[in-house]
Amino acid sequence: MNKQFSIAIDGPSGAGKSSVAKICARELRAIYLDTGAMYRAVGLYMLRNGIDLDDEAAIAAAMPGVKVDVQYVDGEQRVFLDREDVSRAIRGEDVSRAASRVSRVESVREAMVQMQRDIARGKNVVMDGRDIGTRVLPDATLKIFLTADVEARAARRFAENQEKGIRDSYEQVLESIIERDRLDTSRAASPLMKAKDAIEMDSTHLSLEQVAGHVLELARTILEENCP
Ligand code: C5P
Repeated sequence: MNKQFSIAIDGPSGAGKSSVAKICARELRAIYLDTGAMYRAVGLYMLRNGIDLDDEAAIAAAMPGVKVDVQYVDGEQRVFLDREDVSRAIRGEDVSRAASRVSRVESVREAMVQMQRDIARGKNVVMDGRDIGTRVLPDATLKIFLTADVEARAARRFAENQEKGIRDSYEQVLESIIERDRLDTSRAASPLMKAKDAIEMDSTHLSLEQVAGHVLELARTILEENCP
């Protein structure tokens, strides 16, 4: 498979996008980019600097001071804020909420989309987020829209948090996911939606390895068709 490719995996919080994307990137020897981590880093900056998250103009005004960087350490994505590795600090529910709020602001999105395209340029990439198929990589080789019931998503996110030592309760995680679904689907700037040419998959009753297996099968078929 010599042809350059990109795979876009979009969907709501906790549908399993990052686990599926990581497996696919590993199997296809591509770079994995978790775009949510970048919005989280912006959210963390606003929290640390006391910016009112309901004030879109204040968020936009603070953006020039935000220095987000993505690097790969031993093949793993790390996110930096002003050169501090915040990869762990961005995982709590307070930062999840902040990320959903800052991601409504168009100037935040413009800056992140530009960085995401720069990272992807010239590389084979598997990217996950909310607007990858609709905006960041509209010509992606394969677009997946991954969904699952809200309870299944909350249970998954809760289990992941436990593993990472994040102590938020299941109820807090569920409430945060419901709130983020609402914000992500109702915002004016690049709302979460399925791209017309995306393939929808429901992971409620599938393991994430099974979902990744389906995505890999589709990717290999498309790549072989285009590059016999
Ligand atoms: O994917 P994750 O849950 O880490 O994303 C955190 C938040 O960042 C999402 O709730 C969403 O509001 C925002 N986001 C976005 N566009 C992306 C990725 C994430 O708006 N491509």
